[in-house]
Amino acid sequence: MKYCCYDFEAYAKVASTTTPNIKIVKFKPLVKGEENQNFGFYCLSGYETFSIFLPKLNLRFCPFCGTELNRYYRDIGFVNEIEGETFNI
Ligand SMILES: [Zn+2]
Repeated sequence: MKYCCYDFEAYAKVASTTTPNIKIVKFKPLVKGEENQNFGFYCLSGYETFSIFLPKLNLRFCPFCGTELNRYYRDIGFVNEIEGETFNI
């Protein structure tokens, strides 16, 4: 499992309380029974518990190397936060 670049990996792996940090978030599927492989990518200031209402910047491309994040990150192993497990909306 390889990240798109070292800088993205470093920001995605720091503790959530670190400012700034990047988190990969998996949401529940909109249709029950379907698997949602589209993740959310956010740049956040430090937080204790993830919430969709936290102030955050939505990332489509890696800010360091330009990789399109949704095309690159398809593996659940990259995910930092999971709706229903680590947070609820
Ligand atoms: Zn990158």
